[in-house]
Amino acid sequence: MTNFILASDSTCDSTSTLSSQSRMKCSYVTDESFMKLGNLQSRFNLKASHDLFIPSGRAKCAIHRWATDRKVTTERHVYFCNDCNINVCIDCHRLLKSEENMIDLKPSLCKEFMKENEIKMKDKKKIKKLQVGSIASV
Ligand SMILES: [Zn+2]
Ligand SMILES: [Zn+2]
Repeated sequence: MTNFILASDSTCDSTSTLSSQSRMKCSYVTDESFMKLGNLQSRFNLKASHDLFIPSGRAKCAIHRWATDRKVTTERHVYFCNDCNINVCIDCHRLLKSEENMIDLKPSLCKEFMKENEIKMKDKKKIKKLQVGSIASV
């Protein structure tokens, strides 16, 4: 009897571990994230502390990626927010916490990020001419 209960307990355990693991993954940002029931709903939760953590690996800002349809990404000052559950750069995180309608802001954010990126690319060209050439040929 006891053995039987133990066995069923362990199967139950392994399934619950699996589901909680998939929930732990940090989420991508889409337009839906900002809508009702979206994964960024908790950003206006008054109890949310928005603690920022240093990501374990290389992390890219999810908002930069969302606003520019993955054309521009940044790794500068990117942290993981426990409440937003995304990797996000400090500037975008500030926006997230204050701007209610991020979707309306998307076009202007996109422009801004593209411009930012252009300047960055120009600087890179000056320093690493060879690398830029090889990227362009791919
Ligand atoms: Zn946050
Ligand atoms: Zn960002």
